[in-house]
Amino acid sequence: MLIAVDPGHGGKDPGAVVGDYKEKDINLNVALKLRDILIKKGIDVIMTRDKDETVDLQQRCDIANKAHANYFISIHCNSFKDPSANGTETYAYPGSIDGRNLAQYVQNEIVKTLGTKDRGVKYEKFYVLKYTYMPAILVELAFMSNPDDLKLLLEKDSIFAEAIAVGIEDFLKTKFEEGESAIQKLKAKGIINKVYDAKSYVTWGEFASVIIKLLEGMK
Ligand SMILES: [Zn+2]
Repeated sequence: MLIAVDPGHGGKDPGAVVGDYKEKDINLNVALKLRDILIKKGIDVIMTRDKDETVDLQQRCDIANKAHANYFISIHCNSFKDPSANGTETYAYPGSIDGRNLAQYVQNEIVKTLGTKDRGVKYEKFYVLKYTYMPAILVELAFMSNPDDLKLLLEKDSIFAEAIAVGIEDFLKTKFEEGESAIQKLKAKGIINKVYDAKSYVTWGEFASVIIKLLEGMK
């Protein structure tokens, strides 16, 4: 399992700036902590940047695509002219079922552990969601422009990282269990004749055989 972690902005692009604080620094801070937590959980991680450097959006997608990452997690902070705006929102690419589910797990975990306002899962064709080949989400942790949210971002960065990691882990666990139960159902129906490891790859030959059995069963 390989997760691409993408700390938004960096280098010449600070992202949102509130007082002395730059979004690129908070994103990197949380992303590096997320990397360490995921590695401890036995999940491999590739970073689109691990220091304060300029990386354009296509480069970020290329890094994840070339590494064949399974999932892509972009970390950002929100900002708005009205300082009362606050809370967490997580974006997925429109129509991506895995993206939507992963976004929901991460969103729920952040809101539950940090107590931020739940602004929900949203759908946008953001560049890094569109041009990555794997299911991808973009998390807006909280609002730098809101004093309470900013305090959380500065003081509870480890908790944000932990919440994202737990969300990812719960999503993967559920997905694995669904896969195992689907395999059992296919076996019970005689569509496959042995029990596969839900994490193992299927050859095109095996896949084609399953499709043919389904098509012939439907005639
Ligand atoms: Zn941003």
